[in-house]
Amino acid sequence: MRAVVLGVAAFVASVAANAAEPYHLIPGAVPLDSGPDGNTIVFDAPRGLIVFDTGRHPEHSQAILDYAKARHRPIAAIVNSHWHLDHTTGNWDIRQAYPHVAVYASNALHGALETFLKDSRAQTDRMLADPKTPAATRDQLLRGKSMIDHPERIAPDHIVAKSGRMSIAGRLIDVHLAKFAATEGDVWLYDAKSRTVIAGDLVVGLVPFMDTACAEGWSHALDDIARLPFTTLIPGHGDPMTRADFLQWRTAYNNFVDCGHSAKPGKECVAGWSRDAAKFIDAAHEDYAAGAAGYYLQTRLRSSAEEQQRYCKPLSAATWRKPAA
Ligand SMILES: [Zn+2]
Repeated sequence: MRAVVLGVAAFVASVAANAAEPYHLIPGAVPLDSGPDGNTIVFDAPRGLIVFDTGRHPEHSQAILDYAKARHRPIAAIVNSHWHLDHTTGNWDIRQAYPHVAVYASNALHGALETFLKDSRAQTDRMLADPKTPAATRDQLLRGKSMIDHPERIAPDHIVAKSGRMSIAGRLIDVHLAKFAATEGDVWLYDAKSRTVIAGDLVVGLVPFMDTACAEGWSHALDDIARLPFTTLIPGHGDPMTRADFLQWRTAYNNFVDCGHSAKPGKECVAGWSRDAAKFIDAAHEDYAAGAAGYYLQTRLRSSAEEQQRYCKPLSAATWRKPAA
C-alpha cells in the first residue's frame, strides 16, 4: 500500500514540475516496421491545454489524454503542423474526449483529400485485400482509412491562412504559415518567451519526409525559421535541436536538394545526406534514412520537371493525374 501511495506522490510531483516547463514534449517514435508518430508539444493556455500535433497510433493519443488528465486541465485547442496522418489522426481521439476542442490548421487537407489521400485510400484497400498483410498493419490501415472516409474527424475548424500573432485558447502565440513546403500549408510556431520554434515536419532529423514536398518552398521556409532568434527547435520527429543543430540540418537539406538537381550520381547525393545529417541519424535508422533519401531523390528531386512542381501549387483533382509515360 505504502509503495502505491509513494508512487502516486512521485507522479503528482513530476506533473507539477511539468507545469513549470514552457512546454511539454510527448515524443513520437519512428518504428522501422510501422508508420511514425509525429512529436506532440503541449502548451498551457488560460482556457486549457494547447496540443500541437496529435500523432497516428492510439497509444500516442492516449499519452496525450493521460497527460491532460494528470494535469487536471482540459484540452482546449489543437494546432496541426500539416495534414499528414502521423500528425492529425489523434485529433479524433481528442475530439471524442473534448468535443469543444478548437482545431487550427491550414486548409491544405482539402486539396489532399481529392488527390494524394484519395490515392492512398485506394492503396490501403489493395493492402487490406492482400491476405499477407499482418494484423497490426491492418489496424493501422483501417484507422487511416477511417480518417480519409470521415475527414471531419481530423479537419480544422479554424483555418490558419497567414502568419501572425493569434489568440488560441486565450494565449497569444506567433503562428507561421509556410506555403508549398513539406505540404501545401505547413503551420509552425515561435514561442518568444522560451525562444523555441515548434517546426513540425519542416525539420525531421532522420530525413526530410518529401512525399508531398515542394523542395524550393521548403528551403525558403527554413530561411524564415533561421531569421528568428530561437535557441531551441522541436522537429516534427526526433530530438530537440539547438540553433547550431538546426543550421547544420538546413545545410544538409540544401546540399541534398542541390545534389539532387545536379548531374552527380544518386549514390553520391544519398551518401552526402548520410554524412551531412549524421548527427541526427541514430545507428538503428542509418539504413532507413539512406533508403528514404534515395526514394525522395528519385520520386521528387529527379522526377520530371512537371512532377517536381506538383506540390509547388495548389493540389486539385483536375491536375492530379500523371501524364502517360
Ligand atoms: Zn511526420
